[in-house]
Amino acid sequence: MPDASRSPAHPARQLDVAIVGGGLAGLYAIHRLRGLGLKVRAYEAGSGIGGTWFWNRYPGARCDVESLEYSYSFSNELQQEWKWPERYGTQPEILKYINHVADRFDLRRDVQLNTRIKSAVFDDKANEWTLRTTDGEEIRVRYCVMAAGNLSTPRVPDFKGLKNFKGKWYHSGLWPHEGVDFSGLRVGVIGTGSSGVQMIPIIASQAKHLHVFQRTANFSLPARNGPMEPERERRHKAEYPARRAAAAETPFAIAGHAKPTKSALDVPVEERNKAYESKWQEGGSISYLYAYTDLLVNKESNDTASEFVRNKIRTMVEDPTTAELLAPKDHPIGTKRLCLDTNYYETYNRDNVTLVDVRSDPIQEITAKGVRTNGTEVELDAIVFATGFDAMTGALREIDVRTTDGAVLADHWAGGPLTYLGLMVSGFPNMFVVTGPGSPGVKTQMIASIEQHVDWIADAIDHLHKHQLDRIAPNADAESEWVNHVNAVADSTLYPLANSWYVGANIPGKPRVFMPYVGGFDRYKKRCDEVSAGGYPGFSLSRHEATVA
Ligand code: NAP
Repeated sequence: MPDASRSPAHPARQLDVAIVGGGLAGLYAIHRLRGLGLKVRAYEAGSGIGGTWFWNRYPGARCDVESLEYSYSFSNELQQEWKWPERYGTQPEILKYINHVADRFDLRRDVQLNTRIKSAVFDDKANEWTLRTTDGEEIRVRYCVMAAGNLSTPRVPDFKGLKNFKGKWYHSGLWPHEGVDFSGLRVGVIGTGSSGVQMIPIIASQAKHLHVFQRTANFSLPARNGPMEPERERRHKAEYPARRAAAAETPFAIAGHAKPTKSALDVPVEERNKAYESKWQEGGSISYLYAYTDLLVNKESNDTASEFVRNKIRTMVEDPTTAELLAPKDHPIGTKRLCLDTNYYETYNRDNVTLVDVRSDPIQEITAKGVRTNGTEVELDAIVFATGFDAMTGALREIDVRTTDGAVLADHWAGGPLTYLGLMVSGFPNMFVVTGPGSPGVKTQMIASIEQHVDWIADAIDHLHKHQLDRIAPNADAESEWVNHVNAVADSTLYPLANSWYVGANIPGKPRVFMPYVGGFDRYKKRCDEVSAGGYPGFSLSRHEATVA
């Protein structure tokens, strides 16, 4: 039973809802739940709001969903008035937008910065959660909303010798606020996922020499970024509400891409290549993967799209050996997160850039001078880890989540994360998760998923209150059924063929379980809507006498 007297410096704060995280999800949760008249507060580890967009300040950091799509839809005035300068938002621009939203909707007063939640314990008798911060503060609440992000736990591989390195090192997700000037330096970038692919061309243009350490080649398509076209913006804004509604009827929660009607194998080669070429010229990833009905479910169809991009790489990269190393052959296109870039492949034509294949010759250690593989030691002044995150479960794994009944989230998830609808976990009442495992979040326009999840959570809490109830928890059966469904859907696609963070493959020892729901935002939302409209089948709703504040 939580006891405030154990931390006399901080008497327990009593609220209706504690929100873990002050990023796009946490901020919208404040807005939405406050609208229900609830006393809420978000706890944010960073010294500023913005989550992903606060931390990931590496050179070239930019969203690869178009800015007119990647924005909140809950206020039409906001979406009409905000002006995005470019087709894709840069990290500073998105952070500026988030800060604008926080001020415009007066959200800051309910965000506590520099505060990391270290544990969350549900007291079954009191029917309340007690969260504790690393500073010893206690927060007692009826509901807990975990909005801590799914790519928010940066991971530096456990390379031997890192502490001996005499130069400076950085991780993409923990970038110094003052920026880093690589001019005149010998730089190594380890990792060629979305972060690496964005930063490599920019670091190459500054550094004396750049070595890129690549373990797995990734597919990347041209972003074709540019200044926002006024006519495009005008048209989009004129249709905004209709476009948002149309987006909710699509798998990626992004409107404006004609639904494919044919298999890639049902069209002649020339026609197919013409279609791929047109998507390549258009830029963006959704359009390319949505060219045919079966690119993510039929290997033979996917091969045509993969080979088209491999051939593009072969024409863009002058050195044939480097081109072959950059041309991905170990996974079908789209089954790892497809990257978008500006001049990524062309960067390898520069004299000051060297690609090091650490698949065939893995990194053995970081030395005082640089990076050593079996074959060679590369001397460096700076190392950049673009090595990703403990995705989807990392942020929750860092919090000791348990109940007085003896349930421990880390144990419950030992074999892989279990959730019902990605929103709640059996045995952990009144704890909601935003865009976590079992949710389609990471496979969609993330802000659409955030809004949909938070709206569902707010409706559930409202439903409880209207029926004089105060507890909701998913049933174990419903949770198992959902997890089986998530896996069955994934197994009907090509996704499991890739060693991606979707299956935890980048974290040694993490159970290999497919975590996101890839059945599509449209299908998922329909299911969530049916559950709330149907009185929450699969959940137990009940009343407990104890009250918080
Ligand atoms: P990531 O996709 O997980 O890529 C990590 C890279 O580091 C991979 O190339 C990985 O190789 C490599 N790596 C990891 N451990 C290694 C080791 N021990 N030795 C050598 N190489 C190693 O991480 P990320 O690029 O930060 O992106 C994560 C996700 O964040 C993206 O998929 C995307 O969802 C999101 N993101 C989005 C944007 C955007 O919207 N533009 C930008 C950045 C990130 P392997 O593939 O062999 O594991």
